[in-house]
Amino acid sequence: MEKQEVDSKLQERKMCGRLLMFPLPAQGHINPMLQLANILYSKGFNITIIHTSFNSPNKSNYPHFTFKNIGEARPTGYPTGSVAKGGAASKVILLNKVCFDPFHDCVKRLLSDSSADDRILCLITDALFYFTQHVADLLKLPRIVLRTSSLSAFHVFYLYPILLQQGYLSVQDSNSEAPVPEAEPLKVKDISQTYQIEGEDLGMMIAGMMTGTKAASAIVWNTFEELEQSVLPTIQQNFPIPSFTIGPFHKYFTASASSLLEQDKTAISWLDMQAPLSVLYVSFGSVALIDKSEFFEMAWALANSKQKFLWVVRPGVIRGSEWLESFPDGLQEAVSERGHIVKWAPQQEVLAHPATACFWSHCGWNSTLESICEGVPMICSPSFGDQPTNARYVEAVWKVGLVLENGIKREEIERAIRRVMIDQEGKEMRMRMSCLKKKVNLCLMEGGSSYKSLEGLVNFILSL
Ligand code: UDP
Repeated sequence: MEKQEVDSKLQERKMCGRLLMFPLPAQGHINPMLQLANILYSKGFNITIIHTSFNSPNKSNYPHFTFKNIGEARPTGYPTGSVAKGGAASKVILLNKVCFDPFHDCVKRLLSDSSADDRILCLITDALFYFTQHVADLLKLPRIVLRTSSLSAFHVFYLYPILLQQGYLSVQDSNSEAPVPEAEPLKVKDISQTYQIEGEDLGMMIAGMMTGTKAASAIVWNTFEELEQSVLPTIQQNFPIPSFTIGPFHKYFTASASSLLEQDKTAISWLDMQAPLSVLYVSFGSVALIDKSEFFEMAWALANSKQKFLWVVRPGVIRGSEWLESFPDGLQEAVSERGHIVKWAPQQEVLAHPATACFWSHCGWNSTLESICEGVPMICSPSFGDQPTNARYVEAVWKVGLVLENGIKREEIERAIRRVMIDQEGKEMRMRMSCLKKKVNLCLMEGGSSYKSLEGLVNFILSL
């Protein structure tokens, strides 16, 4: 690009103004916020990323952004490792307390240092950083919320008070298959699982998120209209502020640049040696934990399945183990015959690889969307929070995968692997996934729903 052109581009950018963006410091939240930052940068906005010292994004991958560190702001007990581990709700509540002062001071300073030709237009903060609404009000700065989950899972959180009142959170049989008419297509067991960890803290966190979102100027969603058409009007009714469904974000910019852990590229060279549609990819994301007994069940099921598999065993994912030291004798050999194990994978590349046939996932929203975008059917082992809703939608609404209904048990896993990877049923799931993949591509094209929604978001920000 000629210097003159660069100068005029910079001039244009300055005319658009600056956005202050603040991701929650966890992998599944950092990825979409930085992707959104790149999307908005490409539309001409200047970007400042405000972050904490721990889990801070890799600045060298974003030389075009300004970064502001608000300091340690680490609640007691927050993990020192690069990826947050369990007990999420209580940590989010603590983060909302300890970040208030440093965040407020940081934004105040940025406002007083800003110039007329690089005006700060608004804050864009994670919905779970609900305290930022109070800061926005104090500093008279509009706040846009980024909600990183699906619309459907957000709606299930919205229903929390009703579900609590109806007794769904205190049912005797937490594995009940009974339907929940208030939250179709969820079953009672899904509601129990959603709220099973730290019920009270989760309730508080949800209340904070709902109040903070209601008071915001707009909401941005990492989803697309065609995927969640049925719930969008309900959300718009409950939150009568502009809603922008501009996703899937990772189709504009990949998640690799914001990965907190190093992605092991041997995953791809190993996949290169496998036959098309022959590999099961297994990963439970950055937060979910499993017990040793579940790890053994997984390993036996994978070994017995007779399928090739690529398995992400994140250090710390097995409670009480650093990494693979708990592998029992004999099992490791059985596993290594058919599989390749890595600590962290370039997930998007793995899902896009022609050898990948199925994704056994915890159903975090990023993982679910990434699988949909690559047309890969899923086996679902949700753990908590939004995951049970995502899993139920995968199985019952989009019909592109199966939920392991009884936890992690080897016979059930082996059956599920067969059903998705070998049986006719799996081929039909793959066909439905391909249809969703086509819809993704259409929604991002000129005139598509996400394309238009992004135009709407840009105009909305410029009108602030
Ligand atoms: N991810 C990755 N490598 C892995 C596993 C996951 O890069 O080995 C990325 C994945 O692509 C996704 C994110 O980590 O973007 C996980 O987010 P998700 O919402 O699925 O789950 P969470 O970690 O928040 O539970």
